[in-house]
Amino acid sequence: MINKLISESAKVFPSGATIGILGGGQLGRMMTLSGTAMGYRFITLEPTENSPCGQVARQIVAGYDDQNAARQLAEECDVITYEFENVDAEVAALLENEAYVPQGSRLLYTTQHRLREKRAIEAAGVPVAPYREITSAEDMSAAVEALGVPCVLKTVTGGYDGKGQRVIRDREAALEAYEELASLGTELVLEQFVAFNCEISVIAARNPQGEIRTFPPAENVHVNNILHTSVVPARVSSELQLEAQQLAAKIAESMGAVGLLAVEMFVTRDGQLYVNELAPRPHNSGHYTMEACSTSQFEQHVRAICGLPLADTCLLSPVVMVNVLGEHIEAVIDRFAKKDSDADELGIVPKLHLYGKAEAKTGRKMGHINLLCHDVQHALDWIDKTNIWRNE
Ligand code: AMP
Repeated sequence: MINKLISESAKVFPSGATIGILGGGQLGRMMTLSGTAMGYRFITLEPTENSPCGQVARQIVAGYDDQNAARQLAEECDVITYEFENVDAEVAALLENEAYVPQGSRLLYTTQHRLREKRAIEAAGVPVAPYREITSAEDMSAAVEALGVPCVLKTVTGGYDGKGQRVIRDREAALEAYEELASLGTELVLEQFVAFNCEISVIAARNPQGEIRTFPPAENVHVNNILHTSVVPARVSSELQLEAQQLAAKIAESMGAVGLLAVEMFVTRDGQLYVNELAPRPHNSGHYTMEACSTSQFEQHVRAICGLPLADTCLLSPVVMVNVLGEHIEAVIDRFAKKDSDADELGIVPKLHLYGKAEAKTGRKMGHINLLCHDVQHALDWIDKTNIWRNE
C-alpha cells in the first residue's frame, strides 16, 4: 500500500538465481515451493535429514552453527535468507562477509532481543505497551509499583510461543516470578498487561530499493500460546486496519528491513494499537495469503530479497486459517479424504497445506488449512462442526 522508491542501485537477482535458506522447516518449504514456481533454485542448510524444506529443495545436512557448511552455502548461492530468528551470530557474520545476505544481520540482532526490539519500535514512533528493564529484585519491585498489576514478566531472549514469560496478578507473586525467570540467566523485561480486545498482525515487505507493501491485517487467536486461527479481514474498523498497516510500514522503513517483517499488535478496547513483537521472516499469521491474496507472503519475500518489484497484496476472498497440530492431523487427513458436505453447505473452500513432518507430536505444527469463504463466520462454523479443534 505504500510505495517509496529510494535506491535504484540495489542488486537484482532474476529467476534462475539460487537462494540459500538457513533452516529447513515449514517456512523454508513454503518459500521454496513459491520461489520454485517463479524459477528460482533453493538450497537449505538444516541438521535434520529429510526436513520439510529438504523434501522440496537441495539440503546441506549440517548444524546451524557449522561454519564449513555455511561457507558451502555461501559458495553455491546467489542470495541467502533465513527462516528462523535465532541464527548463530558467527554464521551470520561469516555469511555477510562471504555471500549476499540482503536482510543483513542488524534486524536479526534487534529482533532477537525484546528490549532492543521495543526500543527500535519506539524509535520508529510506534507505541509499545509500557515496560521496564529488570536487572535486579529491586528493579522488579519498583517496576511492579510503576506499572501495576496485572503485568507480564518476560525473558528478553529465547522465548517463543509463550515460553519464558509469567503473568503476575498480585504483588506477592512478583518476586517469585522474578526468581524463577532470573534463574534462566537472561535479562528480563516487565510489561504492563494490555487488556486487549483482540490481537492482530500485519506482514510488511520491503525490498533493498526501499519499496514497501503490507498485507491486510489478520486477527489472531492463540490457544495454549500457539496460534490457532487467523481471521481475515480482521473484525476491526477499516480505519484501524489502515492504521495497523501504516504502523507496520513505518517500522519496516525505520529499521531498514529487507524481506518480510511480521508485526504483532494488541488492539485495546478504545482502539489503541500497541506493537507486541516483530519477526523478520514469513509468519504463521501470514499463511492465509497463500490462496486469499493476489500474492503470497512467500512470493513477496522472494521478490523482496531478490530485489524485484514488490507485487500487489490485495485480499481476493475472506479467509480463516486454522493450524493443524500433531493432535489434529489424523482427523484432518481423514476429513480431506472424503466429500465434505459441511463445506459445500456453508459455501467454503478448504485448502490443506501439510509440511511433511514425520512425527506428529502434540502442539507441533504439522500443517494449516486456509478456508476460503464468503463470510468468515461460515469458516468458523466449519471449524466448529468438524469437532477436530473441539476444546480450543
Ligand atoms: P509473546 O511471546 O510476547 O508473543 O506473548 C505471547 C502471548 O501472550 C501474546 O500473544 C498475548 O496473548 C500474551 N501477552 C504477551 N504480552 C502481553 C501483554 N503485555 N499484555 C497482555 N497479554 C500479553
